[in-house]
Amino acid sequence: MLTSTPFDSFSLNHASQSKRRVAYFYDSDVGNYAYVSGHPMKPHRMRMAHSLILNYGLYKKMEIYRAKPATKYEMTRFHSDEYIDFLFKVTPDTISKHLTEQVKYNFNDDNPVWDGLSEFCSISAGGSMEAAARLNNRKCDIAINWAGGLHHAKKSEANGFCYVNDIVLGILELLRFHPRVLYIDIDVHHGDGVEEAFYTTDRVMTVSFHQYGDFFPGTGDIGDIGVSEGKNHSVNVPLRPGMDDVSYSRVFQRVIKGVMDWYRPDAVVLQCGGDSLSGDRLGSFNLSMRGHANCVNYVKSFNLPTMLVGGGGYTMRNVARTWAFETGVVVGEEVGPDLPYDDFYGHQYYAPDYILDVKPSNMPNQNTDTYLTQVCTKVLDNIKKTMTFSPSVQMTDVPRYPLIPALDEEFEDIADDEDEDENKDLPVRE
Ligand SMILES: [Zn+2]
Repeated sequence: MLTSTPFDSFSLNHASQSKRRVAYFYDSDVGNYAYVSGHPMKPHRMRMAHSLILNYGLYKKMEIYRAKPATKYEMTRFHSDEYIDFLFKVTPDTISKHLTEQVKYNFNDDNPVWDGLSEFCSISAGGSMEAAARLNNRKCDIAINWAGGLHHAKKSEANGFCYVNDIVLGILELLRFHPRVLYIDIDVHHGDGVEEAFYTTDRVMTVSFHQYGDFFPGTGDIGDIGVSEGKNHSVNVPLRPGMDDVSYSRVFQRVIKGVMDWYRPDAVVLQCGGDSLSGDRLGSFNLSMRGHANCVNYVKSFNLPTMLVGGGGYTMRNVARTWAFETGVVVGEEVGPDLPYDDFYGHQYYAPDYILDVKPSNMPNQNTDTYLTQVCTKVLDNIKKTMTFSPSVQMTDVPRYPLIPALDEEFEDIADDEDEDENKDLPVRE
């Protein structure tokens, strides 16, 4: 049984030493949105992460952009017209008059209707779509959108605090230029919305590492491997509570190495949900910040066009810490251990120690070595079968025209204006 030791073996990957051009997407409005009172999902954490990123000076090593918010039309590349129409139309005052739609589109306590909901979705989705477009145009090697990663949203349904699936929209954009896209999900929850969207195609491989067994959303069994052309292109790694850094990195690296060797993707999307961290309000994994960031470091070492998105994460101070550290990993700078003095320093968020690290706890790891070895063996057996299928380049529902029609010059002008965002927002106390 592997024990829960600090992940001190972490070291920044400087593979190839080639300069990786990093595009970072941030909209300073994002932290102003709030789900209903008491809801665990807090967009404010993106502003906290951004503040750390700026105050560690990481903006000097990447290009900072504010993406054009996604339009309704762009969202319907994946979502149904009627669902998006309703999402943009409904308000907290009118939702009670639409009982049929409440049920049909899954609006409830988990997925409430709140002021500014559709604008928030536009910011999240716009970031991932422009991140993908910049990767397509080879304007950057790695793109980051911490406001994205909303992996549970379905075609015509809100799900798991997610309403618009920015990841699916981003992957659809990547598929215009990349024959095979790999999606990796290290959120503590199964990446069900993304898996479902690409369940029947071999042009996207989805790989989800998640807590499984009496846990939301209940899908992600190891036997769920995709169907039709997509058979063996959905990979599920179901895990028990207590996953620690050592066991997680062992499983993650084995599986991802297998995927890289056998599937040979042309681009990667890594969902970095922070609810797999130790001490999360909803998840029961035991990863430290460094154990979580090891996944970013490892994926980066393959030198493929890569998009990083956020996702879950319900202990805000730890999510902010980890996404700031991971931004450093991407640009090749290990930040910390002290926190910089920033807008939130005096707000007790980071008390009492004011250091960057998120440490693991002493919770038991319910994943035995035997169990993890069995899971890896089964998963890798399936991955190896993807070699026998030559991915078909046709996929009828992939648009053959840009998702962002006005990319190129106009997009460049807008994007360049947003260099070195100053984050002028006032701090908000939760
Ligand atoms: Zn989650």
